[in-house]
Amino acid sequence: MKSIAMILVFALAAVAGVFSFNWGPVEGDFSTLEIRANGTVLKTIEPEDGSFPESAEIIEAYYVIPDECIGCGICVNQCPVDAITMNADNIACIDPDLCVNCGMCASACPTSTIELLDKDDCALYGIDADGNEELLQEGFEVE
Ligand code: SF4
Ligand code: SF4
Repeated sequence: MKSIAMILVFALAAVAGVFSFNWGPVEGDFSTLEIRANGTVLKTIEPEDGSFPESAEIIEAYYVIPDECIGCGICVNQCPVDAITMNADNIACIDPDLCVNCGMCASACPTSTIELLDKDDCALYGIDADGNEELLQEGFEVE
């Protein structure tokens, strides 16, 4: 079944792009930064030598909006490259490094909660040592 799916993959797959997000110096006592889209953490950024980097690259791949995932696992069985796993909360998670953007999981999802990443949905958050979060930036300029 997956071999048939693999053939379809090459017919359906879109070329994945990379968004390069930029921001200024981060003010505030944060432990980590996160780039998120619709509640999904796309990338966690650690400080380097006491300060945070001011840019990051995000792969344009499909992702799951967690609040609407019912944990049915249908997408896991649809993915021809095994890019989807269920996390400890039974929410589907897509590995953007593996995803080939075929869209088969999105077509099969009964709650329509899998989307191709849109740069305009991305935002930067700061997370402090107590887990408190602060929205730092929306509307990235993309290079
Ligand atoms: S098919 Fe949709 S609802 Fe089901 S586990 Fe995957 S993302 Fe969640
Ligand atoms: S995660 Fe979805 S879009 Fe990506 S390769 Fe798997 S089925 Fe295709």
